[in-house]
Amino acid sequence: MLSIITKIPWLHKGPVRLCPSGFRREDIDTDTFKVVCRLKSFGHAAYIVGGAVRDLALGIRPKDFDVATSAHPIDIKRIFGNAIIIGHRFKLVHIRFRYGKIIETATFRRHHGQKEGQVVTHDNVFGTEKEDAFRRDFTVNALFFDPDRDEIIDYVGGLADLKKRILRSIGDPDERLVEDPVRMIRAVKFSAKFGLAMDPRLEKAIRKHRDKISLCSQRRLFEELIKILKAGMFSAFVRRAAELSLLDRYLPFIAQLREKNSGYLARLLTACDECMKNRDTGLYIPFSLLTWPLVEDKYRQCRDIQKALRLTFHELQSQLPVSKNEKLDIRTLMLFIPRFDYLRHHAQKKKFIIRKMVRMPAFNEALYLYGLIERSRDQVHDGYEFWKRTATLVRNTEMARRQLKDPA
Ligand code: ATP
Ligand code: MG
Repeated sequence: MLSIITKIPWLHKGPVRLCPSGFRREDIDTDTFKVVCRLKSFGHAAYIVGGAVRDLALGIRPKDFDVATSAHPIDIKRIFGNAIIIGHRFKLVHIRFRYGKIIETATFRRHHGQKEGQVVTHDNVFGTEKEDAFRRDFTVNALFFDPDRDEIIDYVGGLADLKKRILRSIGDPDERLVEDPVRMIRAVKFSAKFGLAMDPRLEKAIRKHRDKISLCSQRRLFEELIKILKAGMFSAFVRRAAELSLLDRYLPFIAQLREKNSGYLARLLTACDECMKNRDTGLYIPFSLLTWPLVEDKYRQCRDIQKALRLTFHELQSQLPVSKNEKLDIRTLMLFIPRFDYLRHHAQKKKFIIRKMVRMPAFNEALYLYGLIERSRDQVHDGYEFWKRTATLVRNTEMARRQLKDPA
């Protein structure tokens, strides 16, 4: 698709329009398509915007679709019976579909107009289509797509940057990063995820303003971390963030682990990525992998796993503000790890406890985590294989016993 772009002269005034888009029809969500068409049928401008258009242009099937429109939230709500207005700072509309699917629909908005160098506190001014493109973070994230006409509208040179595989800030990177320092994390995320080279001005600005990460809201930083983990690209992100000296500002505990034992950390991060890519698992597995080296250190000192976990959660509460439920899941799994290590050396004497462990509901998940941790450790162990064999044996014996009792 991107090869067509070379044929288009770059227009400095007005947007570049590319029609047909070259996007694969089957990659475009049908409900989003309907939302755009319905808004247009009521006389509003409406487009698929943001990450979804970038992904389509890169030939990747988008995970979620956002819509931007000239319609105000109250109009959108009138048009769609299944819509609810959300948000305090900026009102957004969630159009709800079956199976919990939501299409986020936002009214075009413009740059907040706060002074240069200020962290933005309010960002809720409606604007035009063009203003909406310019208030976005990076050129590749500011493309608009009209699925009805199969046309891409590009106000900021995002198509050309995608073709050249460059991540470029919209406007002066110094200003844009200072007004929202979370963009630094986003820049590293997109650069690592799509293999985009960073525009040298953007890279320089990140190095200059990296300390401003401390001004960001913990919630937003954590949201980005979750997205990075879910995308299975944490290794690449950590590498790139370290190169830009951003890692010790964003996740100091990862930077410290990297300094202490880079091989161990690299293997843990690979395990994180593998489990997110290959297995439909909750975030408690990657969170457990990331926190394990700290828990392990503390456990070595106090020999009390509950205490080691408590101290680690306390230490990481600002960097990894996991929810209560996630803490509970992590704790449940981690309590198994020292037992796995200990009991396999005392298998003969502890047969009863071993059988009891195998029957526990969290056993399989804990064993999976144990396997990942063991593979990441410096020395080679055979604990995982031992427990896999033992679990099969215990389960087979129990089944045979049940069949003996009740042959029918
Ligand atoms: P991802 O695949 O990680 O979700 P995304 O580009 O879709 O990437 P979102 O956080 O879903 O990112 O945001 C959707 C769009 O909103 C972005 O593509 C971008 O245009 C805009 N946006 C998001 N965060 C910012 C920000 N901090 N500053 C300016 N624009 C932003
Ligand atoms: Mg998105």
